[in-house]
Amino acid sequence: MVRLQKYLAECGIASRRKCEEYILQGRVKVNGKVVKELGTKIDPDVDIIEFDDKIVRREEKKVYIMLYKPAGYITSVKDPFGRPTVLDLVKVKERIYPVGRLDFDTSGLLLLTNDGELANILMHPKHEIVKTYVAKIKGIPTKEEMERFENGLIIDGRKTAKAKIRILNVKNGTSVVEIQIHEGRNRQVKKMCKAIGHPVIALKRTKIGELELKGLKPGEWRYLTEDEIRYLK
Ligand code: URA
Repeated sequence: MVRLQKYLAECGIASRRKCEEYILQGRVKVNGKVVKELGTKIDPDVDIIEFDDKIVRREEKKVYIMLYKPAGYITSVKDPFGRPTVLDLVKVKERIYPVGRLDFDTSGLLLLTNDGELANILMHPKHEIVKTYVAKIKGIPTKEEMERFENGLIIDGRKTAKAKIRILNVKNGTSVVEIQIHEGRNRQVKKMCKAIGHPVIALKRTKIGELELKGLKPGEWRYLTEDEIRYLK
């Protein structure tokens, strides 16, 4: 709950003192009724506030956050089963949400923001932003399998767009590969690896476009720099 004049001032209507005058002048309504009491407390999430018959909203500062998501966290704001969500890791006062998703058992670079416009840009396939993953997979893919991976596989009845895969190292019958894809279909990397006969054992996203997961440990986050924000937009 917040005092009406404080809320009006925070919304950029005028100084708090000036807002008190507006209230006394009868220019402010709460839930459709003129309120002239200066002490009135309101709940900005529930009450509708009007100034000169126009609804007043608090402009939230736009925030852009990079999180190193650990495996074992769900990429949503709330989980009906009570599992930990990525928002348990990032405590800020703005109402942020994840951009796109990583599976429960996938780790790596996840962006969170309250900027709906940016979220749209990044999730729309037409922007073709490349996502880079490092995957531990079963077996060692052959040249022919990697070519099929790169040229397009039929996943859920639809051909995948061009992708890239290269082997980083091989150990004990498993391989670590770097994968780049442009699309963001549900469980796409896992499905593509399975389709060439090399199921994923562990998956981590390392890059979104040029944005890199560097200097963070699992569970840590930081604000994006001005340059990084400019790059994404
Ligand atoms: N592809 C997957 O299969 N899982 C992810 O979490 C991200 C991409």
